[in-house]
Amino acid sequence: MLEFEGVEVHLSGEALTGAMGELPATVTQIEIKVKEEHFETAQSLLSDYHRTPSNPNSHWVCSSCGEENASSFEICWQCGAEPKG
Ligand SMILES: [Zn+2]
Repeated sequence: MLEFEGVEVHLSGEALTGAMGELPATVTQIEIKVKEEHFETAQSLLSDYHRTPSNPNSHWVCSSCGEENASSFEICWQCGAEPKG
C-alpha cells in the first residue's frame, strides 16, 4: 500500500516467511521500515489506512416510496416508512 503511494518500504518480516516453520510465532510479526524522509508520509498514510470510516455514504432506500435516506434517519423522511431489515 505504501509502495503504491511512492514510499519506499522494507518489510523485514516478509523475508522470514519462508523460514516460518523454524521460528517462534512471535518473530513473524512484520515490521515496516521506511526512510526517515518518508516517515511522516508513511505514518499519515498508515493512520488513514487504519482509520476505517463508518461508510459515510451509506444510505438506505425506502421500500415504500424509493426515496434515499441517510443512514442516520430511522424512518423515511419522505413518507415516514420504516426501512426494511
Ligand atoms: Zn419513503
